[in-house]
Amino acid sequence: MDFDDQRAALVNAAHRLARRRLVIGTGGNLSIRVEDRVLVTPSGADLEHLTSDQLVVTDLDGAVVEDMRYTPTSELLLHLAIYRSTSANAVAHAHPVASIAVSNLVDELPAVHYTAALIGGAVRVAPHEIFGTQELTDAVAKALVEKTAALMRNHGSVAYGDSIETACERIELVEWLAEIYLRTAAVGAGAVLDQEQLVAVAIAAAQRGYSPISRR
Ligand SMILES: [Zn+2]
Repeated sequence: MDFDDQRAALVNAAHRLARRRLVIGTGGNLSIRVEDRVLVTPSGADLEHLTSDQLVVTDLDGAVVEDMRYTPTSELLLHLAIYRSTSANAVAHAHPVASIAVSNLVDELPAVHYTAALIGGAVRVAPHEIFGTQELTDAVAKALVEKTAALMRNHGSVAYGDSIETACERIELVEWLAEIYLRTAAVGAGAVLDQEQLVAVAIAAAQRGYSPISRR
């Protein structure tokens, strides 16, 4: 398997996250699953300057099967757990400022805008655990039940999707919702959408083929 298209998509997505300041330095990591192989960013990668030859290929247990020059991201456990427990084809993890701020304040980012319906409504916050550990992986997996995005307290956010573009767009959507939440909360309690309202939005979106983020 040569992964040529996936390598280009992963590098473009990494550059986009860095360009939009959703990661700084060596923070953040991305992966794409193709059948029983995972193409993933290397440990210590600076996403702004990532190149396709730095990517690593592992199996679904995390064993490196190609490109032995680099070690996979320290969050590989998290990526693999998401592939095992969901239908994800791609996973993105970033350190966006507003998302982290909200993760430090609340246990759940409420549905402050109707587009939250597209990622499962309110976004749960996984408690802080040391990066790269099974404890963090377990906490995030729990926060992702019936959701496609989660916040990680004092750390960042994670999202998955059919493609790496969709996973990254979900990271951006969570960051935008977090910014709205912070602006609202600075003034008062603010209105949030309940489950019934979110379901109605999801039904309307499905009927009209509407999505503010691309569906890939
Ligand atoms: Zn991280």
